[in-house]
Amino acid sequence: MSSAAGNVFLVVAPSGAGKSSLVNALLAQDPSIHLSVSCTTRAPRSGELDGKDYRFVTNDTFEQLRAGDQLLEWAQVHGNYYGTPRDAVDAAICSGTDILLEIDWQGARQVERLFPRAVGIFILPPSIAALRDRLTRRGQDAPDVIERRIQGAAAEIAHASEFEYVIINQDFSVALQELSLIIGAARLRRENQAARHAALFASLGVRS
Ligand code: 5GP
Repeated sequence: MSSAAGNVFLVVAPSGAGKSSLVNALLAQDPSIHLSVSCTTRAPRSGELDGKDYRFVTNDTFEQLRAGDQLLEWAQVHGNYYGTPRDAVDAAICSGTDILLEIDWQGARQVERLFPRAVGIFILPPSIAALRDRLTRRGQDAPDVIERRIQGAAAEIAHASEFEYVIINQDFSVALQELSLIIGAARLRRENQAARHAALFASLGVRS
């Protein structure tokens, strides 16, 4: 029986790097990974569902969650507040479920402080032009919002150097395969294997 703690995966990228598409494809092929649903004060984009894409909350509710210590981490991004509910992450880790957080670099830094074994993955776009192209084609944000996001992207990209893994999302299927490889490698870390196969480790005399 598995008694391994769940892995925490942090996936960080500037807007338009294709992070959500990659994560959605990963979860479709590996439903055992739980996705953390963040709270945000941002307005929903068309097609986004409350409770699925985000929990959309007012500034007051966000402040209550923050003050009540119900957020594992939080940050202000592009003028809105975003935060990770603490309970879902704690529950996943305790039950041995892998959980993935799609957050920004500020949030990743906070989570890494709490969970030093969290796996940080940064998704880079192949170029700034590709980023602009994706944000424009998405057609979901006003031009001034897109401009703000592109400016924010350069600031976000500057933090790629703080991450253990970097994926360049030029070819979607290659990037997805690379993301999947990172998840697979993390699951094979010795302490995970030792917890999962405690009896075997003991019978083989492998110290864990
Ligand atoms: P968007 O508004 O495009 O969905 O997200 C904007 C940025 O906020 C992205 O970089 C996204 O990763 C980040 N973000 C989303 N949820 C969270 C969260 O719970 N915490 C933090 N720190 N950032 C988040």
